[in-house]
Amino acid sequence: MRRVDLAIVGAGPAGVAAAVTAARRGLRVALIDEAPTPGGQVLTNPGTSRPHDARGQAIERGQTLLAELGRLPVELYRETIAWALEGTCLALSGPESPSEIEAAALIIATGGREYVPPFPGWTLPGVMTLGGAQRLIDKHGVLPGRSILIAGAGPLMWALAASVLENDGEVLAILDASRPADWARALPLIGTLQDRLRLAWRYFKVMRGSRTPYLFARGVLQARGDGYLEAVLAGERTYTADSLCVGFGFRPNIELLQLAGCGFVFERWLGGWIPAIDEHMRTDQPAIYAAGECSGVGGAAKALLEGELAALAAGTGLGVRLEAHDEDRLEWLKRRRQREIRFARVLNHACRPPRAYTDDLVDETILCRCESVRYGQVEQALQHGATSLDGLKNELRVGQGMCQGRTCGPVLQQVLAQKAGQTREQILPFHVRPPVKPVELGKLQEAG
Ligand SMILES: Cc1cc2nc3c(=O)[nH]c(=O)nc-3n(C[C@H](O)[C@H](O)[C@H](O)COP(=O)(O)OP(=O)(O)OC[C@H]3O[C@@H](n4cnc5c(N)ncnc54)[C@H](O)[C@@H]3O)c2cc1C
Repeated sequence: MRRVDLAIVGAGPAGVAAAVTAARRGLRVALIDEAPTPGGQVLTNPGTSRPHDARGQAIERGQTLLAELGRLPVELYRETIAWALEGTCLALSGPESPSEIEAAALIIATGGREYVPPFPGWTLPGVMTLGGAQRLIDKHGVLPGRSILIAGAGPLMWALAASVLENDGEVLAILDASRPADWARALPLIGTLQDRLRLAWRYFKVMRGSRTPYLFARGVLQARGDGYLEAVLAGERTYTADSLCVGFGFRPNIELLQLAGCGFVFERWLGGWIPAIDEHMRTDQPAIYAAGECSGVGGAAKALLEGELAALAAGTGLGVRLEAHDEDRLEWLKRRRQREIRFARVLNHACRPPRAYTDDLVDETILCRCESVRYGQVEQALQHGATSLDGLKNELRVGQGMCQGRTCGPVLQQVLAQKAGQTREQILPFHVRPPVKPVELGKLQEAG
């Protein structure tokens, strides 16, 4: 078994910031990520579709840290899944990783996933998330379609529209489901977040230049097509589209933290269930820290601050003495994090899907994509008395497929809350057991 001072799961902005901070202070660090390259959702492939002025300060800073990571003696385990843990000991599955790492401290920085509420036809090929479409452009230089409709809420829509247009693609329209009043709540904060404002302005200039229609539209979308997306109905309008890119913000990846036995709190405007942490990113489990989207959805800037905070706290816990400038930096990090969290709450509030997505569900709409479970079946189970996600799982197999409930979990939580007359706080996430992600049977056998 490999032994290190600090193991970090997730090499996105939070994990990279944590690894660099800890390695600079002489700790032996292992950084684990299932992706082939470090950087997470946003640092890995800024690609040609994101010119310098379309990146923002957080991404620039993250890339500087990523470059420094390569010069530090950090053990980087690529294409490696952390699939179980006991205390601060991780079970790994990867081409070059040991099968276990025992760390004196552990930072979980597993990020978040995009949220899309179900709607008729959302499983048709041609319908994809905003992030998925952005990835296609950034990583492979491929547009998601020839006639693209962008829908949902939040800045990812604007960034994608700008990328498509700058790569000579056609955006039929942008359908924004947020309310203009939601954005007014951000105004008191925007003065201190000028970088974000500059970025948004840049995206809007590209959209305005192309005369792309921008509509506030809160109706439930309907995707239609025979085996592939052909049209999208949005209220009174029908768009002939071969690509619908849709997203309503992110939800935190908390599965490893659940496995660690961490306590959770429900913070609706930070993505739902998140670990109970203190201002140093300490969970209630000894030597286990959480940083980035998995500790509350809030963007790359928040993730970078939290990675650094967690690493400083973990270092202190392991006996590293902080210098005077570290103490000042700690206070600064904590203040900036609070500012980012205030902004995140406004942003996540604006990104919430309209209630109609859950109110107007039709029987045929698939809720669990892996097991093809439809709303009609879920409604029946609710009538028979199911009141929890695990109850639905036992009855209908929801959450038992490849994604292990990562996609349908937040969807079903919303449905249960609205249809069974419960608050979302009353609905716990799916119970989690190892492996948290699919691994080869041989790896399970090795682990005994
Ligand atoms: C297309 C796109 C564009 C974006 N643009 C911006 C932007 O311009 N500005 C901004 O502020 N935010 C942006 N965001 C959001 C931003 O990406 C996130 O806020 C940020 O990446 C969060 O960093 P993180 O380190 O918490 O998580 P992530 O970047 O998601 O990194 C988490 C990492 O953990 C790894 N991982 C998860 N579970 C495991 C496991 N069990 N074993 C091993 N590895 C695991 C994943 O592979 C991933 O690399 C964008 C997101 C997307 C999808």
